[in-house]
Amino acid sequence: MIIQVRHVAALCALACAAGAVLTACGAPDAPPAARPAPSASSAAPSRPPTLAPGPAGLARVFEHGPRTRGRTVALTFDADMTADEGPRAEAGERFDNPQLIATLRRLKVPATVFMTGRWAEEYPRQARSIGRDPLFEVANHSYSHYAFTGSCYGLPTLSVDRLRPDVERAYTALRRAGVPNAMPYFRFPGGCYDRQALKALAPTGATAVQWDVVSGDAFATDADAVARQVLDGVRPGSVVVMHCTRSAAPVTERALRTIVPELRAQGFRFVKVSQLIGATSGHR
Ligand SMILES: [Zn+2]
Repeated sequence: MIIQVRHVAALCALACAAGAVLTACGAPDAPPAARPAPSASSAAPSRPPTLAPGPAGLARVFEHGPRTRGRTVALTFDADMTADEGPRAEAGERFDNPQLIATLRRLKVPATVFMTGRWAEEYPRQARSIGRDPLFEVANHSYSHYAFTGSCYGLPTLSVDRLRPDVERAYTALRRAGVPNAMPYFRFPGGCYDRQALKALAPTGATAVQWDVVSGDAFATDADAVARQVLDGVRPGSVVVMHCTRSAAPVTERALRTIVPELRAQGFRFVKVSQLIGATSGHR
C-alpha cells in the first residue's frame, strides 16, 4: 500500500515548544472497508465498529465519515499531556479543561475525547467522569504523547519497540483511572504516523483516527477565528480536531459556544467517532 504524505494541519502539538505544529502525515490510498461489530448475541455487549487492518497488516486510518448520508459531524478533543510534563502540572499549569466538558454537557453535544494515559493519571476524577458519561466516548491518544515517527514537530520520539507498549500502557492507565470502556480508536501524537507506526498499532485492534477539519485551537487567542475555521471546514461526515487542554488551547470552550449553535442551525447533528465509523459500513 502506498502511503500518501499529506499536510493536513497547521496545529500546534501541545507538548512541544510553542510554535511547533502538528500535522496528519499520511493516509491509506484506498477507502477503508469497515468491519462492523459482530451481531451481538443477547448476552454480549456489541463491540464498537472498527476498520479491518489492510492487506499488509497495517492499521487503517479513518479521517471522516460518509459525505452523503446526512449532515453529521464529530467533534474530537485531544486531552494532551506528555509523560515529562508532571513538573509543569505541579507548578500549576492546567492540562485539563473542565469548563469545556461542562459546556459540552450543557449544550448536549456528544463528543469523542482522545485521552493520553498521562492525562488520565493526572486527572483521574475527570477521566472517570468523562469515561462514564454516555454523552462521551474516550479513545486512546497514547500514554506518553511522544512521537510515533522519527520527526514530529519536536516531540520526543519513541523507539519502534516502544510503540505498541505505549498504546497498551495508555489503555491500562485509562482503565485504572476509571474509564470503563475506552474505545478501540487511536490518535497518533502530533497526528504523525508512517507504515511502521500503523504496523505497530494493528495488533492492538485499534483504528487510527485522524480528521478532515483542523480547528486551529492550539495556542489560539481568537475564539472567533477558531469558530470560523471550523465552520468553514465542516462538511457532512467531518471529524474536527480540537483540544481539551486549557493552558495550550485557551479559547476552545468559547469557540464551541459559537460553533455548536451555528452548525445546528445549518442542520448538522453531532455524533461520536464510533457512529461515523459505523456509518461507513452502514452498520449504525
Ligand atoms: Zn495531542
